[in-house]
Amino acid sequence: MPRYARVIPDRAGDRALDYLIPPALEPALAPGSRVRVPLRARLVLGTVVDVLDESAVKSPKEIHEAIGGAPLIRPKLLEIARWIAEYYCCPLETAMACVLPQVVRQAEVTSRRLNHVRVVRIPTADELAALERKAPRQADALRAALAAPEARPVAQLTEKAGVSESVFRTLERKGWVAVESVEVARDPYGGESFLPTTDLCLNDEQRVALKAVNEAVTQAGTSLPILLHGVTGSGKTEIYLQGIRHALALGKTALVLVPEIALTPQTVERFKARFASMQGEVAVLHSHLSAGERYDEWYKIHVGGARIVIGARSAVFAPLDRLGIIIVDEEHEGSYKQEEAPRYHARDVAVLRAQREHCAIVLGTATPSIESWHNTASGKYRLLTLSQRVDDRRMPVIRVLDLRRASRGGDAVFAPQLLTAMEKRLAAGEQTILFLNRRGFSTTMLCQVCGHVCQCPNCSVSLTYHRDAGHITCHICGHNERAPKVCPSCRDPAIRHAGVGTQKVEDSVRKIFPSARVVRMDADAMTRKGAYRETLGAFKEGAIDILVGTQMIAKGLHFPNVTLVGIINADLGLHVPDFRAGERTFQLLTQVAGRAGRGEMEGEVIVQTFTPSSPSIQFARHHDFEGFVGQELEFRERFGFPPFTRMVLITVRSQVRERAEFTTQTLVRRLRENVPEGSVVGESAPAPLEKARGYHRFQTSLRGPAVRPLAAAIQTALAGLTLPEDVFVAVDVDPVQLL
Ligand code: ADP
Ligand code: ZN
Repeated sequence: MPRYARVIPDRAGDRALDYLIPPALEPALAPGSRVRVPLRARLVLGTVVDVLDESAVKSPKEIHEAIGGAPLIRPKLLEIARWIAEYYCCPLETAMACVLPQVVRQAEVTSRRLNHVRVVRIPTADELAALERKAPRQADALRAALAAPEARPVAQLTEKAGVSESVFRTLERKGWVAVESVEVARDPYGGESFLPTTDLCLNDEQRVALKAVNEAVTQAGTSLPILLHGVTGSGKTEIYLQGIRHALALGKTALVLVPEIALTPQTVERFKARFASMQGEVAVLHSHLSAGERYDEWYKIHVGGARIVIGARSAVFAPLDRLGIIIVDEEHEGSYKQEEAPRYHARDVAVLRAQREHCAIVLGTATPSIESWHNTASGKYRLLTLSQRVDDRRMPVIRVLDLRRASRGGDAVFAPQLLTAMEKRLAAGEQTILFLNRRGFSTTMLCQVCGHVCQCPNCSVSLTYHRDAGHITCHICGHNERAPKVCPSCRDPAIRHAGVGTQKVEDSVRKIFPSARVVRMDADAMTRKGAYRETLGAFKEGAIDILVGTQMIAKGLHFPNVTLVGIINADLGLHVPDFRAGERTFQLLTQVAGRAGRGEMEGEVIVQTFTPSSPSIQFARHHDFEGFVGQELEFRERFGFPPFTRMVLITVRSQVRERAEFTTQTLVRRLRENVPEGSVVGESAPAPLEKARGYHRFQTSLRGPAVRPLAAAIQTALAGLTLPEDVFVAVDVDPVQLL
């Protein structure tokens, strides 16, 4: 009996087509299989979403080819894709696209094969001596091959023996060796070895936490998700490592998610070193892998060759089987949210995946998100606490400097107290981190005469001055132009740069402390491959006195010799129109401050601010998470913000302002007809970032007690709406960015 496959071609949204399955392909095809199918006059890639006994289509075309022996998307992950499509309001195809890495999906990269030389006949001493006399180069080559314990790539042996590949071909003809093509993995850590570490002896709090984590692993998902709230330096990673060991001992696998920015060589090293004996089975997925490396790492996991996977956001879809534990480190991090469709939150998908795969899940952080904290209060998550740093190390002392009072002469970047503190560290041979979450030299170019500010022509933001290149640049669209010498508006030469960026911080430090070794670490300075790694290495070895940087240095770094952290401007995130502004500021201050005093010596943190009495700054100063969260929850409840309601943000953009506005108004009207009782649809209004990349942007937001009914109402409202050309609608469920 003929069977049919329902296939969604790539980029076809939700439009599924039926195809006939040729008998030869039948055993291989299942939902989740990738296939090549004829569509109009072409062959296109697609995904099987269903296998059917009958089809309403008359004489459907045949599937041309199945890619891979078994389905590339396994059933559990296909289920998760369906859930994402429904919950985050996107086409199933969009959700399925993010489950597979692009390289695998495109079926273009394949495994790498290299010619290897294997000895097939071991010569006697006499034979070797005879060869030496007749053909010395062949003898050299054969000796090189004999010295290797197993088959080696030809390229390695030619180098070692100083002969060309043809010599090995000759040896092959004579029957000494075989030259054969072998599949090899592109291991991004191939050349490195890691010094094995052993489990540390836990302190009391850690012991209690590990016991709970191990129980959750053993109980295979029948227990609640765990929120591990541990202050910076409390040894959360040690809990992860030992929890993973427990899962491995039960024959299960482990998935570790870390924010991309925290996926430093340091982090990877800690895992690779602890599980050094099974190093090949630790797979790492992140955005700096080449296409080939990514393919190999993914494929290794797919075929069951990895037992531990460490990766950033999209690694939540790693094709591991027998999951025993999922760890989401820094669970509060905004970068777990994908800012393009599907706009999923990797932490939330991880919680769902753990539930579906019956495995334990641990969300770890020093600064829990308000949502996760709320979930512990409502009994959805279980709270575990590490309240002390290991080895009785003290939390750093945090001093807040009021910049309104500090005498800041014109352009000065540092208050005198911060300078004194830096001087002290330099004299003592200790290290300093200076943090400012803004790159560039100055934030604006401002005319002193007419007040003109250089704006991006495509976005509603001012251009940042980059002194090294002599350019002003837009940090949203990348627009770039020469910095003007005179005001573009009134032609007066009195145009100045104002506001401080990391380049200016670096510049000032160099001027004030000419003999200090200073390095800047931000997206501009770290463009060269490997630069990041080298800088961290140099800092670790003490070859750098002062490290200046953006959020790139705020997370997860562990340097025992850092005793001073200076926060140049704590107010940057406070005044953005976002209900999470206070939460973000608290988190950032706590995390950055946590980089200080991680060794024997006590740490000091100096926070410069114009709003010293702001609650986020005061609570961070006192290391008072619960105080902060208490007042923050009160604020959220009073004004009906998440987690007390659920929120969906809809952003409409068009190059024609009126079209964006009109479409948003129409949507608002339709949504109001569709949303369930108890939900609110906001007005149509210009987005806080009114213009970006040449598009005008309008927004509306929905709030209600649950996401599903809101999502359903949005699907209905959008379904009947034909968008004018050039109008794009973005639906963001549980938004993290409100701009
Ligand atoms: P967190 O992730 O909570 O910030 P880490 O896991 O980085 O903290 O731990 C900080 C440091 O303390 C690391 O160098 C780690 O090796 C060390 N450490 C963790 N647990 C212990 C322990 N029980 N005894 C001694 N040192 C520990
Ligand atoms: Zn721009």
